[in-house]
Amino acid sequence: MTQKTLKFAVLPGDGIGPEVMDVALAVLDKVCTPEGIKLESTFAYVGGAAIDAKGQALPQETLDTCAASDAILFGSVGGPKWENLPPNEQPERAALLPLRKAFKLFANIRPGLLYPELVDASPLRRDRIENGIDIVCIRELTGGIYFGQPKSTTELPDGDTEALDTMVYRKSEIERILKVAFETARTRKAKKVCSVDKANVLTTSVLWRKTATEFAKNYPDIELSHLYVDNAAMQLVRDPNQFDVFVTENMFGDILSDEMAVICGSLGMLASASLGVGKNSFGNAFGLYEPAGGSAPDIAGKNIANPCAQVLSAAMMLRYSFGLNALAEKIERAVRDTVTKGNIRTGDIAFGGQSVSTDVMQAEILKRL
Ligand code: NAD
Repeated sequence: MTQKTLKFAVLPGDGIGPEVMDVALAVLDKVCTPEGIKLESTFAYVGGAAIDAKGQALPQETLDTCAASDAILFGSVGGPKWENLPPNEQPERAALLPLRKAFKLFANIRPGLLYPELVDASPLRRDRIENGIDIVCIRELTGGIYFGQPKSTTELPDGDTEALDTMVYRKSEIERILKVAFETARTRKAKKVCSVDKANVLTTSVLWRKTATEFAKNYPDIELSHLYVDNAAMQLVRDPNQFDVFVTENMFGDILSDEMAVICGSLGMLASASLGVGKNSFGNAFGLYEPAGGSAPDIAGKNIANPCAQVLSAAMMLRYSFGLNALAEKIERAVRDTVTKGNIRTGDIAFGGQSVSTDVMQAEILKRL
């Protein structure tokens, strides 16, 4: 058996972050060690915890630890303690955005997964999602109107005030996010990509649609469709499972991914990956893996947080940064069996039924591995 070493940075952050991170690390150990895979995880401060310990939300030594790793497993940051800091120093803004920038994390992958047994967690009518939801949102994360220059606010001679944002995309940027979408679709049963744009109004979207149409010729096994973003937002609530993988630019993805999260029910179940442009020492994407939810200060320290999103984020790390698809699937199956067949659930997905602690959830997931 060849000895592989998975080198990753562990940034638990604040609130429930450290609690659920412990569960993810225990799960990784349980699946990797028997396979002769060594885990070399290095802890680093981030967010409010880093402000308290080191004076800033993303200390240089945390960046160095991440740069020396093949992936980042991230918890969540923020909480009431740091809410009165100036906006630019607050944990989320001062830690996550610079991390995205430092590692050029251009591809945000969010599975929208709702098990049929949990459909009551969704605000959608049961008959629309009888068999659960299983779709993936791929959002471009470093381009578009959020980052385009120039940006300005100008006092005009006529006394009015004008603000300007610039929406800009290069063909190469569009192609690299499309590649992530098509490759993701290849790993799935339906093998469909829906490209979401606003090509009836925006020039960047005209380029987006043209590029997607051309790019799809490289993937004859994948069916490509296009939707305008306003229609996509409607279709997502009308019949989410008509999608398989959908891919879109930064701002549209920001909105649609949150819409998707809410129709999938609890934030405690949703994982995400943000992949960088660089390759790691495994020849795979360097990536940051984190739950979709925040630090949940309302339940922090109570041993009741749902660790599944963090555990599923660790599974995504195995898949995308370390190429260990079979082990990722093993973890995903164990989580699913725990929640569905085992009916072992934390409060957020118990719907008033019996709920268990984070510790019990951990033990039950480990038992099924
Ligand atoms: P939140 O996601 O932390 O919490 C929203 C609701 O979902 C809360 O009721 C919470 O208890 C519940 N929830 C979230 N994750 C859960 C889990 N694993 N198990 C059970 N319940 C869970 O969002 P918020 O309350 O708006 O924000 C709280 C803090 O988190 C803020 O400081 C915010 O800035 C920060 N935040 C951080 C990130 C990040 O680190 N990426 C993302 C979002 C919010």
